[in-house]
Amino acid sequence: MPGPNTIIDQFTELPVSRQRRYQLRKQASGLCVICGRRKAVSKSLCARCLRKRGVKKPGRNSAERV
Ligand SMILES: [Zn+2]
Repeated sequence: MPGPNTIIDQFTELPVSRQRRYQLRKQASGLCVICGRRKAVSKSLCARCLRKRGVKKPGRNSAERV
């Protein structure tokens, strides 16, 4: 049952959670699936969110990890 704020597009009918649809929309527009910023090359997240998720930047030592 669509609510008043439901976005109607190609993802609306998919049998996935609202969060997943949100991610798919971001992915389709080539943006970070969390914050909507321009994402890092070949990743689905931007550099910032990758770091938040604990993905280390290559070439950095582990002390850099937040
Ligand atoms: Zn992000």
